[in-house]
Amino acid sequence: FILFFIGFYMAIERTLSIIKPDAVAKNVIGQIVARFEQAGLKVVAARLAQLSRAEAERFYAVHSARPFFKDLVDFMVSGPVFVQVLEGENAIQKNRDLMGATDPKKAEPGTIRADFADSIDANAVHGSDAAETAAVEVAFFFPESQVYSR
Ligand code: UDP
Repeated sequence: FILFFIGFYMAIERTLSIIKPDAVAKNVIGQIVARFEQAGLKVVAARLAQLSRAEAERFYAVHSARPFFKDLVDFMVSGPVFVQVLEGENAIQKNRDLMGATDPKKAEPGTIRADFADSIDANAVHGSDAAETAAVEVAFFFPESQVYSR
């Protein structure tokens, strides 16, 4: 009975995914998006974007006191990124599972970071880590009118 209710109310979520400059430069946007689609997630918004320093600093403001912050911002503005909204059941955790650990050396085989990332800073993808951050991050890039739920 309880499992039925959990299943019945399984949340359709939205999450923000960013294919970072290293993966865009490697020309693997399609290979990464295919993994989202194969896992049952739908791309409901997407575009290439060149972030300004101010935008990258604002997006990663939560990390502004960390020692890697300047390098992270330098990296995120080093070339275009591919920003997407992914939608589906349990989309936030599903995307995190597909991405793998932040450090590609620690990422499970078969994850996006294990297969496409070179280092802990140039690590191919970003994905929202919780419902609250997902809502903020989706709105950072896409007004509701540009998200096409289906
Ligand atoms: N990062 C880094 N060095 C570190 C930790 C993080 O360059 O020691 C960068 C890396 O690009 C990472 C981002 O900062 O993806 C955000 O870190 P977070 O811990 O939120 O990891 P994520 O949620 O991206 O796995």
